[in-house]
Amino acid sequence: MAGPIKAASLPAEIPGVAGADRARGHSWVGHVASILGASALTALAFILLAHFRLTGGWPLWVLLIVLAVASVAGELTSRLIRADARALVLHLAIGSQCMATALVIYAIGWGPTLAVGYLFIAARALDLGGSRTWHIAFVWAGIGTVLGQIAIATGLVSTYVPVPYVHGLAALSILGFGFVMSLLGSKTEQSEIALAERNLAASDTRAALSLLTATLDSTADGILVVDTDGAIKQFNSRFAHMWRIPDDILARGDDSAAIAFVLDQLLYPEMFVAKVEELYVNVDAESDDTLRFKDGRVFHRHSRPQRVDGQVVGRVWSFRDVTDHHRLLEELEHQAFHDSLTGLANRALLRDRLEHALARSRRSEATVTVLFCDLDGFKMVNDTLGHDAGDLLLVEVARRMTEQLREEDTAARLGGDEFAIVLDDTPADEAVALAERLLTSLRAPFVVQGRELSARASIGIADSSDPGLSADSLLSRADIAMYAAKASGRDRCVWFEREMQAELAARHRLHGELRHAVLVDSSLTLHYQPVFDLQSGRVDSLEALVRWNHPTRGLVPPDEFIPIAEETGLIHEIGRFVLEEACRQMVLWRAQPGTSDPSVSVNVSPVQLAEDQFVSYVEAALHRTGLAPTCLVLELTESALLSDTERVHSRLTQLRELGIRVAVDDFGTGYSSLSYLRQFPIDYLKIDRSFVSELGQPSEQARALVRSIIGIGHDLGLRVIAEGIEEPEQLSVLQEEHCDFGQGFLLGRPVPSGQVHGRIQQLLAT
Ligand code: C2E
Ligand code: MG
Ligand code: MG
Repeated sequence: MAGPIKAASLPAEIPGVAGADRARGHSWVGHVASILGASALTALAFILLAHFRLTGGWPLWVLLIVLAVASVAGELTSRLIRADARALVLHLAIGSQCMATALVIYAIGWGPTLAVGYLFIAARALDLGGSRTWHIAFVWAGIGTVLGQIAIATGLVSTYVPVPYVHGLAALSILGFGFVMSLLGSKTEQSEIALAERNLAASDTRAALSLLTATLDSTADGILVVDTDGAIKQFNSRFAHMWRIPDDILARGDDSAAIAFVLDQLLYPEMFVAKVEELYVNVDAESDDTLRFKDGRVFHRHSRPQRVDGQVVGRVWSFRDVTDHHRLLEELEHQAFHDSLTGLANRALLRDRLEHALARSRRSEATVTVLFCDLDGFKMVNDTLGHDAGDLLLVEVARRMTEQLREEDTAARLGGDEFAIVLDDTPADEAVALAERLLTSLRAPFVVQGRELSARASIGIADSSDPGLSADSLLSRADIAMYAAKASGRDRCVWFEREMQAELAARHRLHGELRHAVLVDSSLTLHYQPVFDLQSGRVDSLEALVRWNHPTRGLVPPDEFIPIAEETGLIHEIGRFVLEEACRQMVLWRAQPGTSDPSVSVNVSPVQLAEDQFVSYVEAALHRTGLAPTCLVLELTESALLSDTERVHSRLTQLRELGIRVAVDDFGTGYSSLSYLRQFPIDYLKIDRSFVSELGQPSEQARALVRSIIGIGHDLGLRVIAEGIEEPEQLSVLQEEHCDFGQGFLLGRPVPSGQVHGRIQQLLAT
């Protein structure tokens, strides 16, 4: 395995003429030895020439000293040249060498032949200092020659060459010298230029390689280059880092250990290998794929052939860590298909799963079952406790729901308080059992923001046993069944039946019509039912009960439309109408001469009580109609008291401060205990008619229950009203048990206001 890509593999400088001595490895000692050798030979030649009296007029020892001085000066000044001297130093060095040579040669009388001596100097200067030295050498050789010739002419030195020729020969030799030097100089210059170009090219290559290395090392991608046999040729440091290849494997250059290490980290190593093998066969191919790691990392892998002169010589693999990008994508995908609050699937994912399940079921003849689940009274939680509490409740509901499910089931939140569950291949009885378990788990109290709440749900169930059902129609069937569960009393599960479709359609129609009746037609009307003082037999108050005067169906009772109105928010309009109308009517009655002092009772839905402006609009209604607050009783159900205790408490206190009385309606049907009621400022307890209807029967149990309700009510300082008195026996039992007030068909049915004038007014007048 080759190492990481490095730029340092190129030499810093290509050797050439300028660096010749360095490249040849000349040492200082060697240099001196060569000078000494040449000088010794020259000295020997001088001694020989002196023997034959060919060394001119100067004594031999003077010549030898001059020679020695010239040699030493030559060596020392040569060193200056090599050190890249400036022009002045070059002149000094070459000049002194030329002068010394001229001195020796002219002293021995060989004047014209001295150009040979200059050649040595000039050649050495060229070698050491490059082409720029030859002009200087030529100038100093010229000066040496001229001075020598003057010395001959003035008789300062003698010469072996006949004097008439000596100047011509000198001129000739200096010209020859100049010619040779110009040739050598230009040759040297050429090789210097070539060398500089080579050095420049090498430096460019090094710069490019270093740039490449730096780029590769600073890129976020890990890069690996292999040859056509798959042996690793190069890789960048990021590659080793990304793949966490240990240093010892890298240091050993062990290809197979490195590959084993790589494969060991992958989730699907066989796919990695398959791709590599495929590319061995298709050498020209490029490829992109994704690698998943056991530890969750994700790399994108790109591969392309490496070509030299069009020939594939290997392959480059680049790896990019896309883990974060992948996580983001997964998160986005999760967000797109999941409910952000509960983490359950959303409608889109549920639909997708349902479609797949249906497709599978068509092949395997298994059935797919859908449970459609809607919380009962969730709107009230939201309205009374706020959205945060509502959200917490939904999260907890989702958690309990998931607990009941198998891995393969899909639970989804479709929006608001609607959930759906898709069950794959589950028999009908198991689906029902699951729905029941779900209902039971929801009934256990929830603690939300320190309060205990109970969530109930209505569940509709439908399955795919009818052939050709689409996902949407199956969901809609379960939805319809859910509505049937709500209509038949909530907190239960109901299996889809075909007839329900018509019921649902009717319900939708009813909603539309109600909206029209309330907002456009004003076709609501009030009936009044008297409430009697059971001891005196006088009418104490009249309860206003709303009716809907339907164009085709006649009078529609409130039980049929109040739940829809509460769900859709129409209850606010209805409530305001009832309150104002009842107050207005009571003012009229009380204005009749001889009327006693009756009050009017108005039913208030929990949704109304939760409204922030509730107290102020009650006050405004009293103000507008002119009814005294002491003549108004507001009837609230137990569930209204149970929701947001603090808020309800403060509302009731405000009402009490205005002088308005409060009754707890349908007492006994909710979950509150009498002692729980103690904390609220209330005035009346209305025993639900289900208790009253049991009275008068032989069993004493009902009587005992009613007796205890009346007893505890009185203990709490409340006055007790019995609803739904239909039989004289019931009336007498209630009277015997000291129930304060009573109402019921026996005493007086609810009638329109016009009829109150007739029958009830007689009673009121007494
Ligand atoms: P509630 O407040 O308990 O009203 C008494 C219901 O019992 C009335 O039914 C009345 O007609 C009925 N009733 C009275 N005496 C007897 C009897 O002897 N036997 C039987 N079987 N029933 C008797 P209605 O008018 O159908 O009202 C039903 C419920 O609708 C009311 O129960 C009340 O909770 C609600 N409601 C009526 N009007 C309004 C309203 O204006 N606003 C709100 N929020 N709810 C209303
Ligand atoms: Mg009532
Ligand atoms: Mg009631």
